[in-house]
Amino acid sequence: MTEFAIPSWDTPTIPVTDAGKPFPVRRIYCVGRNYAAHAREMGHDPDREPPFFFTKPADAIVLNGVDTPYPVQTSNLHPEIEMVVALATGGTDISLDKANDCIFGYGVGLDLTRRDMQGVAKDMGRPWDMSKGFDYSAPVTNITPVSQCGIIEAGRISLTVNGKPRQESDLNAMIWSVPETINYLSGLIELKPGDLIFTGTPDGVAAIERGDVLEGHVDGLETLKIKMV
Ligand code: MN
Repeated sequence: MTEFAIPSWDTPTIPVTDAGKPFPVRRIYCVGRNYAAHAREMGHDPDREPPFFFTKPADAIVLNGVDTPYPVQTSNLHPEIEMVVALATGGTDISLDKANDCIFGYGVGLDLTRRDMQGVAKDMGRPWDMSKGFDYSAPVTNITPVSQCGIIEAGRISLTVNGKPRQESDLNAMIWSVPETINYLSGLIELKPGDLIFTGTPDGVAAIERGDVLEGHVDGLETLKIKMV
C-alpha cells in the first residue's frame, strides 16, 4: 500500500447493472451542442461547428436515487438529460470502426449547469469550468453493460420534472454519433479506461428548483430519478 502525504480517498465508482463489481470513474468528458434543436435554442448554428468538449471532475458523480444538493452561486440551474458512455478501453486516434469496441456500457445522466454563470462566462470569454464542473453536477444511473443492452445508436431520450415532460428526442438526432465523438475526442487526448462521455442534450432546457423530482429516460437503460434538495 502506498503511503500518502495526506489521507487519500477512494476512486469514484458507479454500480453496474446486475453485477457485483462497480465501474471506476477516471474522467468525465461532455460534448457541447450535440443536438441541432438544442444548439438553436442556445443561439448557435448547428451545421457549421465541429464538436467541442468540456469536463467535470470524476467526483461530481451523484448515484441514482441520491438527493442532489441545489448548488450555491446560481439562481438558474438547468438539468440537461444525456446518454452517458462508459469506456472499458481507450487510445488515441481511435478509428470510427473501432470506436464502439471501447464501450463498456451506457448510463443515463444529467449535465447540471449553472446557466446564469455560464452566460457570464460566454459574454466575458471565460472558461465554463465553474458553470459545469461543480460538486454534485453529474447525477448518473447504474451502467448497463453492452453485453446486456448491445450497442445503442437510436432510441427515445427524455426528461420529466415533477412528472411533466421537459425534454424529449431520439438518440439518432445527435449531430456527432457516439463513434464520431470517440474518434474526434481521441484525436485531442488519449482516452482511457474509466472515462465517461456525456453525449449532449436535446432541446427544452429550463430551470429547476429545490424540491423538484427529475426522471431521465433512455430506451434500454435504467431510469434516473433524483430529487433536488
Ligand atoms: Mn450538456
